[in-house]
Amino acid sequence: MTGQAPSLSFEIFPPKPEVGNEKILQALREMQGLAPHFISVTCSNNNLNVEETTVRLSDYVRNDLQVPTIAHLPAAYLTKEKVSSVLQSLDRIGVQRILALRGDIIQGLPPKEDFRYATDLISFIKEEAPHFDIIGACYPEGHPESGSAVADIKNLKKKVDAGCSSLVTQLFFDNDVFYDFQEKCYLADIEVPIIAGIMPIINRNQALRLLKTCENIRLPRKFKAILEKYEHQPESLRAAGLAYAVDQIVDLVTNDVAGVHLYTMNKAETARYIHQATHSLFRHFG
Ligand code: FAD
Repeated sequence: MTGQAPSLSFEIFPPKPEVGNEKILQALREMQGLAPHFISVTCSNNNLNVEETTVRLSDYVRNDLQVPTIAHLPAAYLTKEKVSSVLQSLDRIGVQRILALRGDIIQGLPPKEDFRYATDLISFIKEEAPHFDIIGACYPEGHPESGSAVADIKNLKKKVDAGCSSLVTQLFFDNDVFYDFQEKCYLADIEVPIIAGIMPIINRNQALRLLKTCENIRLPRKFKAILEKYEHQPESLRAAGLAYAVDQIVDLVTNDVAGVHLYTMNKAETARYIHQATHSLFRHFG
């Protein structure tokens, strides 16, 4: 037992402009009632209008809802000038925590040259605005582009040394993969807290998207059985998907995880369900 209570936090994404913000603001108000440790706001990797999307929603979370906020910033398609201006905008609204990312490279669209890897962005922020707290992304099953697990961990070590205070993982469904990864990090002297990213699967479309886009994510037999059996039974799929996520979280907290970051897909009811089922585990103990 560590004596340190783990954190429970939520991730949301800015909706497409044609969808409007009404639904997400309502969802955020409901999430506020669950007193998350923080809410993180994603950012599209080819978005030149970061201020209108990620910064604006971060402002709402931080200043209207008074919830600690982390703004994601993928920089592969940004220039140094643009990143400086986003940092200033974040400073103005009092959001000084950034999840610093490279972002996915879009096929046929060459990235800009200023930030080849997330590490370049982290070094830049540390020079330009050292008061920002920087969080990095990590991949328990390896990043799809990396040649080997060893190369991936070495790159992660460089990223943390450039100035990350913690890491948040890509989603995973097999906790043993996470525990192995934690151990590899420890052996590589990566000692910052590693927050586990958990995505409850609550509908068929989400499951299909997941199977298509996350080829390298291991799906345990128990998880695959849920997807197969309840593929055409929405209520059962939702109930089983949520129960699976709760089971993962109970195991992670029992094994002293530093925190759990829920990929909510903007659904307050997902956050509420998980919170209700697990919140007593997140109280301070020790
Ligand atoms: P990097 O850390 O730069 O790594 C990318 C690849 O380069 C890896 O294979 C790594 O091993 C390799 N590499 C790193 N450094 C070096 C080096 N010095 N030399 C050689 N190779 C190196 N995407 C978005 O667009 N918006 C978001 O809001 C967003 N949020 C995310 C949140 C989390 C928690 C996670 C896990 C991912 C998120 N992503 C987001 C996805 C992410 O942008 C992609 O996975 C992207 O492909 C990698 O970004 P990164 O910052 O991890 O890259």
